[in-house]
Amino acid sequence: ARLAAASAPITEGALADGTKVPLLANVGSPKDAAAAVAAGAEGVGLFRTEFLFLDASAAPSVEQQTASYTELLQAFPGKKVVARVLDAGADKPLSFLNDAHEENPALGLRGIRALRANEAILRDQLTALANADAATEAELWVMAPMIADVEEAEYFVALGRELGLKVVGAMAEVPSIAVVADQVVEACDFVSIGTNDLTQYTLAADRQLGSVAALQDPWHPAVLRLVKMLGDAGARAGTPVGVCGEAAADPALAVVLVGLGVTTLSMSASAIADVRAELLTVTLDEARARAERVLAARSAAEARQLAAAVSAG
Ligand code: PEP
Ligand code: MG
Repeated sequence: ARLAAASAPITEGALADGTKVPLLANVGSPKDAAAAVAAGAEGVGLFRTEFLFLDASAAPSVEQQTASYTELLQAFPGKKVVARVLDAGADKPLSFLNDAHEENPALGLRGIRALRANEAILRDQLTALANADAATEAELWVMAPMIADVEEAEYFVALGRELGLKVVGAMAEVPSIAVVADQVVEACDFVSIGTNDLTQYTLAADRQLGSVAALQDPWHPAVLRLVKMLGDAGARAGTPVGVCGEAAADPALAVVLVGLGVTTLSMSASAIADVRAELLTVTLDEARARAERVLAARSAAEARQLAAAVSAG
């Protein structure tokens, strides 16, 4: 047994002191699922379901959705798969959910807001996810995008449970959720931080607009302080807090996120090997010390420099 363990590929993410940090993959299609398995992902931390429906002119049926989700879940027997219900609107418009013209769609009816206004579509999706969960060996967790406060979290968790889902949580992408993190972690089974949108909304900088791209930087200490608020609240309540935004794919930032209390990291499969290697270079105490220094930075650039200086010295 010893030999077999030693020769098996090391896929579990861990720090130098043995602290486990599961490394999961972000997937949007069956093709991504194959890449995730090949990269040794410990599961899926973000299954972007809306990409299955980008060309659909009507909401897909429960049967169609059940078939799609079952196919994806079958690739991860015994592993965790975190599915996100539709994040329609703004950068991911879906014609059957977003019909009204909005001047500022990123601040409009997107994510959980759009689903709540079309609850039949949300119920169908949750039903299909529960069907796929029952039909496969994967461990399905389900989360909603753009949850802004505990009332929205409670709404989503209650509906998920009513429709048979076992583990239900919220994405942290709107800064308000960090401010009331103590309430939200009590209402949810888990929280997953979407640093792409959390950065966009914290810095008020459109993530798709080149002229403000410099502000779309998750190293910004304002973003990292929000991550810490969520990590601290999660630790106090015993609620896991992961990151599934692009920040998790930056090895140096991944160390800082773990130091801020993040317990799992999910990223594109191609980033997993580098993040795994970097995490092995620090202990949890070192990651925490690095996070503390970076929180005092005055800009994203200074935060990067501080992290690089500590890791070099
Ligand atoms: C995010 O906002 O960080 C996220 C993971 O979701 P998406 O990029 O799909 O909006
Ligand atoms: Mg997002």
